[in-house]
Parts: sequence; C-alpha cells; structure tokens
Amino acid sequence: MKPFKGERIFTPGPVEIPDRVREVLGRQIIHHRTPEFREAFLETRELFKQLVDCKEENFVFFASSGTGAMEAAVLNFFEEGDKVIAVVGGKFGERWAELGKRYKLNVVELEVGWGKSVDPEAVDRLIKENPDCKGVLVQASESSTGAYHDVKALAHVTKDTDALLVVDAITALGVYNMKPHEWGLDVVVGGSQKAFMLPPGLSMLWFSSKAKERLTDRSYYFNVKEELKKQKDGQTAFTPAISLILALRESLAMLLEDGMDKVEKRYRIISEGMRKAVEALGLRILPENPSLSLTTVLPPEDIDPEAIRKNMLGLGIRVAGGQGRLKGRIFRISHMGMDIMDMSVVLSALELAMDSLGRRVEFGKAVGEYLSIVQTGVKDG
Ligand SMILES: *Cc1c(COP(=O)(O)O)cnc(C)c1O
Repeated sequence: MKPFKGERIFTPGPVEIPDRVREVLGRQIIHHRTPEFREAFLETRELFKQLVDCKEENFVFFASSGTGAMEAAVLNFFEEGDKVIAVVGGKFGERWAELGKRYKLNVVELEVGWGKSVDPEAVDRLIKENPDCKGVLVQASESSTGAYHDVKALAHVTKDTDALLVVDAITALGVYNMKPHEWGLDVVVGGSQKAFMLPPGLSMLWFSSKAKERLTDRSYYFNVKEELKKQKDGQTAFTPAISLILALRESLAMLLEDGMDKVEKRYRIISEGMRKAVEALGLRILPENPSLSLTTVLPPEDIDPEAIRKNMLGLGIRVAGGQGRLKGRIFRISHMGMDIMDMSVVLSALELAMDSLGRRVEFGKAVGEYLSIVQTGVKDG
C-alpha cells in the first residue's frame, strides 16, 4: 500500500523543502539586473553574515552544487604545486584529494578510516613533518560515513601555521552553530540542498582574511575576487540562480528566527534520540563521533541494508544507502530539515521493515527510546 501523498525524503541531500520556501520557489522569476533583485540579494547576504556570525563580507554564492564551491576553494586559494593535506575518511574526503590532484596540488593524504574522525594531533604531526604545507582540506560532517571531524580543534593546529584550514561544511552549515571566524577556520563551503532546505544548485564559500591574501585568478567562472567585488554591490558576475537566492533568503530567515543555537540543539536531540532508537533495535551506529546531520546505521552481517532501505521505500520513506566502499553495507537517515516528530515516522518504518525481513521486533520500542531522549532534551530547554 503506497502512501497517496508520495514519499518522504530522509536522505543527506536533497532534503525536504519547507512550505515557506516552496511558496517563494513557486513565484514568477524576476530579472537579476533590477533594484528588486539587488535589494533581495543584499538582504540575503546580510542574513548569511548573521548565520556565520561575521562582521566581514568575505563570502560569495555560486550557481553550482556544493562540489562547485569545493573546486572554487582549491582553485582560488592554492597554486599549482602547493602542498596540502587532505583528510580522507570517506567519499567526500576522497573528493578533496581528487580535486587537489586534478589541479596539480601536491596532495598528502591522511587516511583516517571510514567512520573515524581525524585526530587533530595527527594533523599537527603531519604539518610539522611538512612545514611547507599550505592547506588542510577536511569535511566538518563527512556525509558518506556520518562522522564529524572536530574542525574547531583542527583550527588550533593550523592557526599559527602557513596552512589554510579548508572545511567542506556542506552538511554542517545550517545544522551546527558554526562560527568560522571565532573558531579560526579559513575557508568554509556550503550547499543549498542540504541543511538550507533548498533545491540543489546554489553553493556558498566563506573565507578568512588569512585566506583572502592568497586569492588567485586561476578560475574564470568560480573567481572569488571578481564575485566578491560584484556581490558586495548586490550583483553577480554571471546570471545568478535567481530563484534559489530568493529561496535562500527565506530559509536563512527561518534558521535565524529560531537562532542557530536552538537549531543545533534540535539536531542534537534528534541525533541522540536516533542513536538510542537504532541501538534499541540491535543495530549499530557506524561513526564513533556522529555528525548531528545524519544517522549512519551499520546492520549486522545477516541483515542486508539495501533490503531495509527498499522496504522502507515501499512504506513511502526514502533513506540513503552507502557510497563507495560502504555501498551495500550501511544505510543513512538524514535529519536535515526535519522536526523532532518527523523522526518517529522513520523509526516506525524501520521497525516495520525489520519485521518484514523476519526480525523479531517489539513495535514501538525504537520510537519509545527516541521519545525518552526527546522528553529529557525538551525539558532541559
Ligand atoms: C553532498 C555533499 C557534497 C557534494 O555536494 P554536491 O552538491 O552533490 O556537489 C560534498 N561534501 C559533502 C560533505 C556533502 O554532504
């Protein structure tokens, strides 16, 4: 019996789009070389500035998916031959390494094991062994494994070195109350279809004044210098993703009305509740230090995660499978864009899916564990 309203999406991108944002997306297009767009664009920039809690205007938006801004980071802040450390703990860490190599950086890969989080001391040692290191490329939230890398701790390591700390925060911005300036990050990359709850096609790139001094002219489309000049003035170098910018204004307003501390708190309750619920079903969480953005489940050998995923899909609940070397070994449930109560629907579907795969399930157990965490979390404020 398929749900007549269609499926619900619990994947780490794209995520469901709130009604307020969909209303904006349904409007007729406006032209971008108009005072109307300019005003909306400047307002959006103002809200983004509040989101990242910075006084400086050092950020640009690009019409691209998140990877575009990752590529922009590699091209705008590094020259050919520059030595960088890429933290590789999943598919997106691999992407940093591949991007660096494609543009002829000298990439030193720091393998941390899929599901593991990087040890800041290991990065510290590696920088000391490579004093000519110009950058450390890392994910905040490695969405392929669900692990969180402590980028704030990494910033202590890079702070007094020549290395820029370049953070793919595509599933962290809009979830964590990130303060890139205060934390000492140098480059932060975001993407629209993750915690900004928009369709794909817009990326964000924030940078520090240390990074600003390194700006190059190696890219044409992703040229940060040119874009920054234009964007500070309410324009863009090329046709912007007009509808997505207007929608971003709305989703930023939503996030800021709540306040990022509250948003992060909600995701923390969800994350802790999900962990407890999943474990109550006899399943394991893959990462040691889970990101608040998603729950990555590693079922025992005798349960096929793909069968669980397909079964849940039959119930109208779409979760994600594994990528790369974790394909067929895990499934991932995104929290992004979700309210606390949304997750009880996923857990119910998970219970039903396990039951139809022949596991003994006490219906309501996972949901009950989830609710117990919600109850204490909500009581604590
Ligand atoms: C989704 C994601 C990306 C890739 O973004 P695209 O929008 O698909 O280009 C990169 N890094 C992380 C951590 C992601 O979650």
